[in-house]
Amino acid sequence: MKVLLVEDDPSIASVVSRGLGDAGFGVEHVGNGKDAIAAQGYDFVLLDLGLPDMDGFDVCKAIRVKSQVPIIILTARSDEFDRVVGLELGADDYVVKPFGMRELVARIRAVLRRGGIEHGNHDTAISVGALSIDEKTRRAVIDGNELALTPKEFDLLAYLAASPDVVHRRNDILEHVWDTEWYGPTKTLDAHVAALRKKLGNQEWIEAVRGVGFRLKDPAQ
Ligand code: CA
Repeated sequence: MKVLLVEDDPSIASVVSRGLGDAGFGVEHVGNGKDAIAAQGYDFVLLDLGLPDMDGFDVCKAIRVKSQVPIIILTARSDEFDRVVGLELGADDYVVKPFGMRELVARIRAVLRRGGIEHGNHDTAISVGALSIDEKTRRAVIDGNELALTPKEFDLLAYLAASPDVVHRRNDILEHVWDTEWYGPTKTLDAHVAALRKKLGNQEWIEAVRGVGFRLKDPAQ
């Protein structure tokens, strides 16, 4: 699995390259948009938006024209406008700087899993402690018992479980699980979290992080 890292800041590039290497990914690093578009033979793109020669969004568009390879945008811009534009241009996810390597690797794995390109593992099942979720058969099992989930409850659980311990922002969850352009009231999300907690049999599976969002964690850990 080779990652194309498009990043003009050498200090960020070296930290990310090393972190990806430690996580078992191969890395090709380029420092501008022109080289990014010319690069070949990679399986995944990490794309900085602020590049010296062109806008990262244009690089995203140019890569999308020739390839369906997963793209995660690295951005210092966290406002909603860019997020929507990025997803419309075909990016699969975005990570706001500064980010931790653990979060970045979790996001990469989640995107690969959604695309069915599991890194070093072709199983579609996700396991977190006693919980296992199979996105292909859309079954969630806890301690050997299948959970009776609505489709949205399943999607929400699968989304959170794809990167356990990572805090997901409310808007990110709404975009991924409901609709990428859905910015309505977030009561629906709270109702689904409450229903899931009940079905999981332990409130601690889904932790609310005040003012941010939610994360899934194994209560036995
Ligand atoms: Ca930059």
